[in-house]
Amino acid sequence: MEIVKLKSAEKNKLINRSQIDAESVIEIVSDILHNVRKDGDSSLKFYTEKFDNVKLDDLKVSEAEIKESYDKVDAKIVDALKKAAKNIKKFHKSQIPEEWFEEVDNGITAGQIIRPIEIVGCYVPGGRAVYPSSVLMTIIPAKIAGVNKVICCTPPMPDGSVNEAVLVAADIAGADEIYKIGGAQSIAAMAFGTLSVPKVDKIVGPGNIFVTAAKKLVYGDVDIDFPAGPSEVLIIADETANAEFIAYDMMAQAEHDPNAACALVTTSENIASKVNANILEKIKYMQRSKIIEESLEKYGKIIIADSLSEAVEFANDYAPEHLIIMTEDPEDVLKDIKNAGSIFLGELTPVAAGDYGSGTNHVLPTSKCARMYSGLSVDSFIKKPTVQRLSKEGVRNLKDVVITLAEHEGLFAHAESFKKRLGED
Ligand code: NAD
Repeated sequence: MEIVKLKSAEKNKLINRSQIDAESVIEIVSDILHNVRKDGDSSLKFYTEKFDNVKLDDLKVSEAEIKESYDKVDAKIVDALKKAAKNIKKFHKSQIPEEWFEEVDNGITAGQIIRPIEIVGCYVPGGRAVYPSSVLMTIIPAKIAGVNKVICCTPPMPDGSVNEAVLVAADIAGADEIYKIGGAQSIAAMAFGTLSVPKVDKIVGPGNIFVTAAKKLVYGDVDIDFPAGPSEVLIIADETANAEFIAYDMMAQAEHDPNAACALVTTSENIASKVNANILEKIKYMQRSKIIEESLEKYGKIIIADSLSEAVEFANDYAPEHLIIMTEDPEDVLKDIKNAGSIFLGELTPVAAGDYGSGTNHVLPTSKCARMYSGLSVDSFIKKPTVQRLSKEGVRNLKDVVITLAEHEGLFAHAESFKKRLGED
């Protein structure tokens, strides 16, 4: 990888990375949405045969299939999923917000109550690889938030089954129903409802370009989490960092996808060249070396900053999905971080910890969206209706504000409704 100096490089070029070009599939996805809306289950079965090469009579995974999946999965994997689920539950329970009320002014009480979304759909990708960990990350926060029904959609394999580890993870996480439907057709099914699939209020979970485009198009009919693009990591390091660890963290991110992005910004030229040498030495032994090579070639960067504060400023502009801070005092650097999906402090905390088991969520904003979104959380599955109550004193207290502004805006019925409470005509 080329090593560049932050001062002399064009910053935008260093920050730019792959974006999902949902526009390029809008036509095909719009067709799928239209047809599923019109023809329901028969359209779902048509697309499942077309894209997943299997003819299904029943789209729903049966209780028996879920039970049998436990026999097919290695006990070690079931244990690992259960342990991960325990930590994810513990972390997300701490995110449950409190309801509150306060006296805003004399006689005027206002506050906020917490209510879960009623029914949620989680998309679980199942095309090129399977991700039981993502099943836990989408379903558990919804369940902790108190969502009444959580359904799951995932593409079937050509023999009509669903990956057994995905089924075990969905069961451990508490999914209420699982459907063998993938791609844009599953998003349409969940957004509009069909005879077999209930209409949901919100759809979450990562997927490929067809899934992402479909989620964007149904937004409004339902809520969605956010479009998830290729994975990314930015590492801030000083001269105390471990170059070998950094090399593995960069390769770990790169192995997700040829369009994944990895960047190191360091104050140490020595660390920069050691990281580069480590990657060159180790990449050939990686099972996914082809994907890693392609990703590092396209979006891999090693950047030298003059100071830690310059490195932090760059990190805030980059707004990475994952940020690792490998410096002498990571907590001190953390104070100045503004934009990042999830942050990993110190050399013993790789992104893989958050991917699988430290409890934090791994469905995170990519492509600079950490500037304005947070990752999936309990908050993603709740609503916060506001509440107010006025006493006689409160009505008197607010009369000038309400009547003056309502009449100024030409909303005389508003003013009247208030005057009636005052006993005025
Ligand atoms: P997928 O389940 O998202 O997509 C498979 C479906 O795509 C198929 O069922 C089919 O319906 C549809 N499809 C395929 N070709 C089509 C075509 N030509 N026209 C219309 N529809 C078509 O699985 P995938 O493809 O493996 O993609 C998974 C994505 O999710 C990857 O990009 C991966 O990086 C991402 N992911 C992200 C996270 C995260 O947390 N950000 C986690 C896991 C996976």
